[in-house]
Amino acid sequence: MSVFTLTAHVLGKGLDEQFTMEDTDKAGLPFFSGCQYCHASLGPLQALPGKNGYIVGTCCYDQDEPSDVYLSVEEAAKALEMDQ
Ligand SMILES: [Zn+2]
Repeated sequence: MSVFTLTAHVLGKGLDEQFTMEDTDKAGLPFFSGCQYCHASLGPLQALPGKNGYIVGTCCYDQDEPSDVYLSVEEAAKALEMDQ
């Protein structure tokens, strides 16, 4: 569940649409961010909003125990109070 997916959800856009920095801004999310673990630079597709408020990169995402990131857009939007 990436910044890209969450932006699409919040703005009601399709996942096949083009996204700009303006779109992520509107959703209150960063277009470019850094991984909280390895500090890699991330675009919206690689950036996963973490439950502690920091971004987790797909580089450090633990598929077996993904307890630090939101698993669904619904969960994230609710927790971050993004649904308008
Ligand atoms: Zn990382």
